[in-house]
Amino acid sequence: MELTTNTNQALLDAQLELWHTTFAYIKSMALKSALDIRIADAIHHHGGGATLSQIVARVTLHPSKIPCLRRLMRVLIVTGVFSLQNPNDGAGEHVYELTPVSHLLVGSSNLTPFSSLVLHSIFVSPFFGLGAWFQQEQPEPSLFEMTHGQTAWDFTDHNPTFGAIFNEGMIADSSFIMDIVTKEFGDIFLGISSLIDVAGGLGGAAQAIAKAFPHVKCSVLDLPHVIDEAPTITNVKYIAGDMFDSIPPANVVFLKWVLHDWGDAECIKILKNCKKAIPPRDAGGKIVILDMVVGAGSPNLKHKETQVLFDLFIMFVNGVERDEQEWKNIIFEAGFSDYKIIPVLGVRSIIEVYP
Ligand code: SAH
Repeated sequence: MELTTNTNQALLDAQLELWHTTFAYIKSMALKSALDIRIADAIHHHGGGATLSQIVARVTLHPSKIPCLRRLMRVLIVTGVFSLQNPNDGAGEHVYELTPVSHLLVGSSNLTPFSSLVLHSIFVSPFFGLGAWFQQEQPEPSLFEMTHGQTAWDFTDHNPTFGAIFNEGMIADSSFIMDIVTKEFGDIFLGISSLIDVAGGLGGAAQAIAKAFPHVKCSVLDLPHVIDEAPTITNVKYIAGDMFDSIPPANVVFLKWVLHDWGDAECIKILKNCKKAIPPRDAGGKIVILDMVVGAGSPNLKHKETQVLFDLFIMFVNGVERDEQEWKNIIFEAGFSDYKIIPVLGVRSIIEVYP
């Protein structure tokens, strides 16, 4: 049997699209539950491939939920997190395998803490209020503040447990991306003797740079409650302070995931303080930014979609992911003379800014 009109087919196609987006959050929640009960670890423990009973034996799951686990795995396969290998003889059990995606969720340096942070209820719950937030006058409070009654930085200060989850998430991302940066784009740090990682958290990036380039003296500036948690035995110097007040001097200022947290006026203030901290361009002074340039890099649909999703996400702290023109505006407004965008880190870019 077929539908009698194209109109009705079109209606059903449209409903499919609507449902696809309506239910998209189920994908995120499926991933979150997999992180919570540590499914990737269970498969990894069995050498990257495990049957359902082997997974059940290692994850924190009540036996009555085994049929539900099968259904969770089906979603995680559709979303590329795991894959399913049919038994060769058609008789044995199916084997669930890690994919390149879930390989990022296992081992000592993995991205689980970052995804767990983004999917934490503290970060997800504000989005229930996004519609109401849109009806309020700009710009304060942020969606985060509207939900939790304080800014994200005050919140992490007052909730040390969540603060630790936040910092672990940042370290995981920094270790991952800085491993690639130092191996592939080490030229950026060539010929410099000192670097300060401004708003560097617990110093994931600075640690990676100090390890790859031992001749570079690395320090981290962050708020006092963050620096209080910093490791004590390290070749990185930790400095408590406020980047809006002043930034200690260095050849290079490094800013990863800092400017996207702030509006233009705050960014210009931060960048002006960065400029005061570095020597002139001919003496090697520069700012290295690791952030997103919306529209830069691959024209691939998933790439573009991830960039605009990230932008709407970061809007919850009144942050913004900028396109090249928006970056240009704040860079020149802060008194810098030139910049270079290197769109080589997936959806993110390296931006060099010269005094
Ligand atoms: N650059 C790190 C951390 C990014 S999160 C990374 O990519 O892993 C943003 C950081 O900004 C947090 O660590 C937060 O504590 C810090 N921060 C917020 N306000 C600050 C201020 N006024 N001065 C210095 N650091 C600040």
